[in-house]
Amino acid sequence: MSLAEHFRPGIDRHALRLVKRLMLENATQEWPSFVLSFLLLTVVSVATGLTAYLMKEVVNSVFLGDDESAIFFVALAVASVFVVKGAASYGNAVIVARLGLRIVARLQTRFYASLLRQGLDFYHARRGGEIMNRFLHNAQAARAVVEMVAMSFWRDVLSLVALITVMMVQSPLMSLCTLIIGPPAVLGTMFLMRKVKEFARHEAEFVGLTSAILKETVDNVRVLKAYTLEERKAHEMDRAILLLQERALGIARLANLTVPMMEVLAGLTIAAAIMFAGLQVTRGEADPGMFFSFVTAFLMAYDPARRLARFNVEFQRRLIGLELFYEMIDTRGSDEDREDVRDLTVDKGEIRFDRVSFAYGESPALHDVSFVFEAGRMTALVGPSGAGKTTILSLLERFYDPTAGVVSVDGQDLRGVSAKSLRERIAIVTQDPQLFEGTIGENIRLGRLDATDAEIEEAARAANAHDFILSLPGGYACEVGTAGSRLSGGQKQRVAIARAILRDAPILLLDEATSSLDTLSEVAVQEALTRLMKGRTTVAIAHRLSTIFDADHILVLDGGRIVESGRHATLIGRGGLYARLYEQQVDRMQRTA
Ligand code: ADP
Repeated sequence: MSLAEHFRPGIDRHALRLVKRLMLENATQEWPSFVLSFLLLTVVSVATGLTAYLMKEVVNSVFLGDDESAIFFVALAVASVFVVKGAASYGNAVIVARLGLRIVARLQTRFYASLLRQGLDFYHARRGGEIMNRFLHNAQAARAVVEMVAMSFWRDVLSLVALITVMMVQSPLMSLCTLIIGPPAVLGTMFLMRKVKEFARHEAEFVGLTSAILKETVDNVRVLKAYTLEERKAHEMDRAILLLQERALGIARLANLTVPMMEVLAGLTIAAAIMFAGLQVTRGEADPGMFFSFVTAFLMAYDPARRLARFNVEFQRRLIGLELFYEMIDTRGSDEDREDVRDLTVDKGEIRFDRVSFAYGESPALHDVSFVFEAGRMTALVGPSGAGKTTILSLLERFYDPTAGVVSVDGQDLRGVSAKSLRERIAIVTQDPQLFEGTIGENIRLGRLDATDAEIEEAARAANAHDFILSLPGGYACEVGTAGSRLSGGQKQRVAIARAILRDAPILLLDEATSSLDTLSEVAVQEALTRLMKGRTTVAIAHRLSTIFDADHILVLDGGRIVESGRHATLIGRGGLYARLYEQQVDRMQRTA
């Protein structure tokens, strides 16, 4: 690395672009705050300069002079300066805090919007904790950046300008002498800054790791305890915390190195000034007031100068938070429509897969499959785990686009229709029905947001859910948080079925539970499903024998290919994979019965 590169300007171009972007994006709405803050900071800085300047009058008229009215006047001036400074500082702090909070709120809104635009691939590639951490932790970093740019930086720069002006006015020669402190301070800080940047990136990664572990622990606590993984997890967390601590300490060490560096430089400069000015005063070439005013200005300049020297260090650290925020905002949504999409119109509801292949990244999941899900009929997907059944449902929902071939509904290529119009015409009941925050009634309403209470109840009745819902405290108004733990798998599934009934979509996807429901639940769920499937194009990942018997058509998948298809009786007659899978099922049923 060349020397020039080593001392590359502290805030690099990329960081500058980031800050510029932050400011420009918010300038239209926030410019009055920026302007007002700048004006108030100017007032604060001028007051700071005046404090130092008045020292000359204090010494000359109060200690050396004999004019009593002058003493009174100087005292009043000092008091006024401090009052003005205090008021301006307060006003500025409030304005900047409000500015920071508003900017962060805007960033978070965009962050979440971007998150919702992402497809399943995005979520699969990340830990939930990492996303949460970015949203919460990095938002604070973004706020700090705003405050540093809008407040700290200008406050220090303007104060420094005011104080250096006072020094120049009092003694230009001595001021020039003290400037020698500048170059070594700047070079030293730049060098440290580069190091800190590397550490800060690592630190951000480890913060993400700790929150990911934490989130997983909370989410999977049952499994964690059942497999007695506490020790292992504790160990994992210890390591992450330790690494995080090491990085943070590294940053603290480097960042604080600027302190002794500046102390030494300042000490030398003050000593030089004392010698130089002291000699001038004793020889009668300068008045003592000027000397005191100069030293006061110099001492007061020390704080803002020291903060500015460290500014970069802290700033870079915070910028990484802002950078990660923008990274999320800029991630192109993988679940966004092409520009020329139309709305899907469903007439009969026939779904066709034409020579479709699909791979998750490098790993293939479907190989050149062609088949039709007939309109208004029920097709069962059967096959060993990993055969590609879920992938078929995902392609149908357009969570992914096929790598080759065409998926179409009533002759319309799914790539040419908007995801919203497609998904609005699909209802889904999944293996592990997820309930959202809110009441049971609201959870059913998610199927169709404008449904009336009467319609919700009707759907719940059709789903065999009405009776057990009424037995919950508050009935339909029972909060899921309270009910969640006492609902059985079958009951949750019936809530999900009610939601699907309410949606009243022409296409229905069922991802059946592999875990066997108790017989009573099974009957209730099956009844509900039969009502739901009527007249809809249904695709079911089938495990229950009852579903398979009822199917109008069965597709048997293995290793991403269709290996057999037909009705139950035909397939049994062929004695192939289906017959074997079916026998295993019957066997299992008999053993558990
Ligand atoms: P099934 O539902 O029949 O059990 P899937 O459709 O889930 O099968 O999976 C088909 C193949 O794709 C399997 O080999 C599986 O490992 C792979 N697969 C599924 N989901 C992903 C994913 N998100 N990333 C990578 N590979 C996946």
